[in-house]
Amino acid sequence: MAELERHSFDVLVIGAGGAGLRAAIEAREHGMRTAVLCKSLFGKAHTVMAEGGIAAAMGNVNSNDSWQVHFRDTMRGGKFLNNWRMAELHAKEAPDRVWELETYGALFDRTADGRVSQRNFGGHEYPRLAHVGDRTGLELIRTLQQKIVSLQQEDHAETGDHEAKLRVFQEFTVSDLLVEDGRIAGAFGYWRESGRFALFTSPAVILATGGIGKSFKVTSNSWEYTGDGHALALRAGASLINMEFIQFHPTGMVWPPSVKGILVTESVRGDGGVLRNSEGKRFMFDYIPEVFKEKYADSEAEGDRWYTDADNNRRPPELLPRDEVARAINSEVKAGRGTEHGGVFLDVSTRLPAEEITRRLPSMHHQFKELADVDITAQPMEVGPTCHYVMGGVEVDPDTGASSVPGLFAAGEVSGGMHGSNRLGGNSLSDLLVFGRRAGTGASDYVSALPVRPVPSEAAVAEAQATALAPFSGEGGENPYTLHMELQQAMNDLVGIIRKAEEIEQALERLEGLKARARTLTVEGHRQFNPGWHLALDLRNMLVVSECVAKAALLRTESRGGHTRDDYPGMDPEWRRKLLVCRTTGPSEVDVEVKAQIPIREDLLELFDRGELEKYLTGDELGS
Ligand code: FAD
Repeated sequence: MAELERHSFDVLVIGAGGAGLRAAIEAREHGMRTAVLCKSLFGKAHTVMAEGGIAAAMGNVNSNDSWQVHFRDTMRGGKFLNNWRMAELHAKEAPDRVWELETYGALFDRTADGRVSQRNFGGHEYPRLAHVGDRTGLELIRTLQQKIVSLQQEDHAETGDHEAKLRVFQEFTVSDLLVEDGRIAGAFGYWRESGRFALFTSPAVILATGGIGKSFKVTSNSWEYTGDGHALALRAGASLINMEFIQFHPTGMVWPPSVKGILVTESVRGDGGVLRNSEGKRFMFDYIPEVFKEKYADSEAEGDRWYTDADNNRRPPELLPRDEVARAINSEVKAGRGTEHGGVFLDVSTRLPAEEITRRLPSMHHQFKELADVDITAQPMEVGPTCHYVMGGVEVDPDTGASSVPGLFAAGEVSGGMHGSNRLGGNSLSDLLVFGRRAGTGASDYVSALPVRPVPSEAAVAEAQATALAPFSGEGGENPYTLHMELQQAMNDLVGIIRKAEEIEQALERLEGLKARARTLTVEGHRQFNPGWHLALDLRNMLVVSECVAKAALLRTESRGGHTRDDYPGMDPEWRRKLLVCRTTGPSEVDVEVKAQIPIREDLLELFDRGELEKYLTGDELGS
């Protein structure tokens, strides 16, 4: 084997978004020699794209807010499938994580009396999203990076080396985790630029790799979201849960084609934007589901009054959870009441003065002007659903982020459970900080208690290298770009926003075909910056993750949150008690098993009215 670049750390964090950076800070503060590896440039992660804000029950704009209300909203949003312990920790700890960010140097928008301002978002009972205009993720990443630099300065003062305890490796893609005797021993991957390989030995790995959107044709996600962490975890022996639940954000751009899918933040609706069909009707009033009827206005007049008097009016249905709004838009377009380009209208221009729009939504104003030549201060936007977020992910212990594989931890979008069947807007940024911190502690405690550190075997390293090089050895085989396009089309058309058994079965057949063809993938050229090769390796991950999504979607014969079955339109309380758990059984075979959901703790159940619980829980769960 050629000379291999080798590094050794106490904790490896894969991913430099909010979850990864917060985890790395925590591990370093626990005294661990920590490395952060990221596939893109440092600072370029999905977190930086987050627009609307970070949800935390600080009660700054409405003092009725509390962790209990946030917990309730999160459970309702996830249709009670959430891991309730995660939802509890999240609701309780999110305010501290926001305050902590300010100690790192973040500066959130302020209320008139100088408190952190909070805005309305779908599914949140009170204004709860702390924000920085519509560029909140940028501020979050900026300050987490700043904190890392300040820790490195401390390390320099102490040791003379900035990177003595915390080091960042950017544009490095992890292609395999190394496991010895069932325990994590390190990670193997390649530098994007040179294509050269490197081995990182470490007894603990924290996955913080984000989501899977690039398996779908229309998505708000960018090139890094190829489900790598999900697939790495599966191949290392960990399990994934809730993979059938994919969030289609209701408002992505639909025109022009080159920008289809790019996100239009929910803040547009939170700040007063309304949805209309091609007949000019504010159609969301026709789509308020029974379970939410009591909480939402049933007339435009009441919905409009809510923006200025939230205590005495109910919120407008444009602010229903995302799954409800996405399905409603889909139905309007299907019924022939869509716009010329297959979306609906989202209008804030008739609701707020132009200067207020440019102040509150500067990025949206810029995005539409630059990309679609639409001035949102004077014209409506055309919007439609776009694949945005995966609720499913690595099954973890809520308190520590530990997976079932010793030494493997996960936090952020790559982990599963917290959001149940549907995530509320703003709950991801808070999830990253709450569980990033917890995973950092979990991994540090694990390493501290480890009597002997596992060492990756040379055979495992050689195998990882051979797998990475395989696409160069074929001749005249499949082109990775063709396979990727076919995969995206199949997932979009057959396992998309509305699903039915025959279509999912067709998707699974196509996936089998794609998997077989992927074995003869061929890439041209050599390893130096070769995007075709990178895609060939990413495809291995996208295919196995897509199989998890499709197999779980076929098994779950009900509709709930981000999983809508045309052939099983109702929500079934029996299914609420079941989690679908995915594991790999061979190099690319996925097995899905039903596992019982842990019953919700009694004191948390008592936070809800019994009448509401009856909509979700079975009679025996309610003791009736
Ligand atoms: P990311 O921030 O995506 O980071 C993933 C990291 O993993 C990256 O550094 C990537 O390079 C790295 N990586 C991936 N694979 C590998 C590999 N194989 N090897 C090495 N590195 C790898 N949520 C909210 O709460 N509020 C919002 O307002 C909001 N707005 C959003 C707007 C947009 C346009 C999008 C797309 C999402 C938005 N979300 C929002 C969701 C939220 O931004 C994401 O869920 C969240 O940022 C994910 O963070 P993360 O730390 O899990 O992953």
